[in-house]
Amino acid sequence: MGNTMSNFAAIVLSAGTGSRMKSDIPKQYMDLNGKPVIYYSLKAFEDNGFSSIVLVCGKDDVEYCQKEIVEKYNLTSVKAVVPGGKERYHSVFEGLKAVRGADYVFIHDGARPMITQDIINHLKEAVVKEEAAVAGMPVKDTIKIVDEDDYVSETPERKYVWQVQTPQCFTFPIIYEAYQSIIQDEEEGWSIPMVTDDAMVLSYATDHEVKMVEADYRNIKITTPEDLLIAKVFLSE
Ligand code: C5P
Repeated sequence: MGNTMSNFAAIVLSAGTGSRMKSDIPKQYMDLNGKPVIYYSLKAFEDNGFSSIVLVCGKDDVEYCQKEIVEKYNLTSVKAVVPGGKERYHSVFEGLKAVRGADYVFIHDGARPMITQDIINHLKEAVVKEEAAVAGMPVKDTIKIVDEDDYVSETPERKYVWQVQTPQCFTFPIIYEAYQSIIQDEEEGWSIPMVTDDAMVLSYATDHEVKMVEADYRNIKITTPEDLLIAKVFLSE
């Protein structure tokens, strides 16, 4: 299955409350140089030629997103706007159900507007070869693992420590089955680990390797108010 013939879908996540932003407007919809934060990710996948993009938003925001984002900015590759769930992984599962039939799926935090065509293209190459590839960057600082009381317990060797970003990219069947398995275990009352990214879900359900792909230090997640200022600086360059 070659890169050009394959069918790439993207899930862009914009559900969740984002309490760390200290604002009434969720961070995904805040203004960034005249457009909502979420616009930039959707536009990047559309410009890259993705055949299908699904926007997963808060359950009360479906109409707003459809009218004020998808229609207003004429994002014709956005095939569906679907309501998300309680945690990020619930939202991802809703997105996966809406892109069935894709060969590859890119899962991306809508709160990362600085995604570029270079990042997407490098990940496309990597996922076709590896089946599971995620964006990240080597850490610049030394990282410490601490115990419950904040005492240092471990210092991993820095050259092996990366900060993970999104997109996280997979062949559709492996990630769909992994999500199905974790959601089913949860429904059956099994205790499941704290899940903060998609690679963790794959590792929960399979022993498939995940390739880390160097992305960009600018591919930040808008989490706290100063992140929005930083994104504005990057965009104005
Ligand atoms: O909260 P956090 O910054 O980790 O969120 C990462 C991404 O996951 C954001 O783009 C957010 O919109 C999305 N998310 C979601 N559904 C949730 C929680 C977070 O789609 N229940």
